[in-house]
Amino acid sequence: AHLSPIYLPGSSGAAERGDVPDFVLVVINDLTEQRRLERMRTDFVANASHELRTPLASLTGFIETLQGPAKEDDAARERFLNIMLEQAGRMRRLIDDILSLSRVELKAHVRPDTPVDLGEVVRHTVDSLGPLARELEVAIEVHFSGGLAEVKGDRDELIEVVENLIENALKYGSAGKRVDVRIEAEKGPGDGISSWGLHVTDYGEGIPPEHLPRLTERFYRVDVDSSRVMRGTGLGLAIVKHILTRHRARLEIVSSPGKGATFSVRFPPD
Ligand code: ADP
Repeated sequence: AHLSPIYLPGSSGAAERGDVPDFVLVVINDLTEQRRLERMRTDFVANASHELRTPLASLTGFIETLQGPAKEDDAARERFLNIMLEQAGRMRRLIDDILSLSRVELKAHVRPDTPVDLGEVVRHTVDSLGPLARELEVAIEVHFSGGLAEVKGDRDELIEVVENLIENALKYGSAGKRVDVRIEAEKGPGDGISSWGLHVTDYGEGIPPEHLPRLTERFYRVDVDSSRVMRGTGLGLAIVKHILTRHRARLEIVSSPGKGATFSVRFPPD
């Protein structure tokens, strides 16, 4: 923190005259926090530009090759065009995630309060991830005793959260062949339901403990190579964290390396 005492008119010269100043105004500016936020913003712009530049460089390289050495080579052209399409897709995913993150950030201080049915959010997401689950040969099992699990929130944002968590479980936990999604009531005093929890468990490689605290940082990835192959942007969990903060919900991650990971979302009591 930066301290800057300011003597207002009327108090100047008071000390020399030997009397006590009329009043002293002390301004405390928390510059540390301001600097930290500025730093985060510039880091983000630098990282985002770097991440976008990689596929762009690859696209430029292939275009030059197609204009020159591979001009008459039909087989090479076909192969290069496929890679170029993949790189363009990567750029699109990055831009989508960057926009998603800035949209959520803009709304950071408004708490969403529409009633949302968590069961419906999970069913909707599991359906939309069906093709990826089949491609990776992973079964998604939903466990919910039934009834209405209602929380206050924004349905589209909660779908984004659940989608990110299940998609990660599928991508990074595919070796376990199964992903469990649980909706559980958390009992309050007097046996009433006080809040809801949502848990996504996979049985894959898991996450070494030293990485856990950093997983929700923008562009943070545990294993850069494998997450590239898995088409990750490194922004998914940062988006999840921002959405959950806006919902006053907590994200907890528990993992035993080699056995899998559970990502839990705990909603606040009503
Ligand atoms: P990405 O787009 O790379 O998937 P995320 O922000 O969603 O980015 O996740 C950050 C990193 O956390 C991933 O790159 C991966 O290394 C790790 N991770 C996320 N979920 C899991 C999981 N269920 N099991 C193992 N590692 C995971």
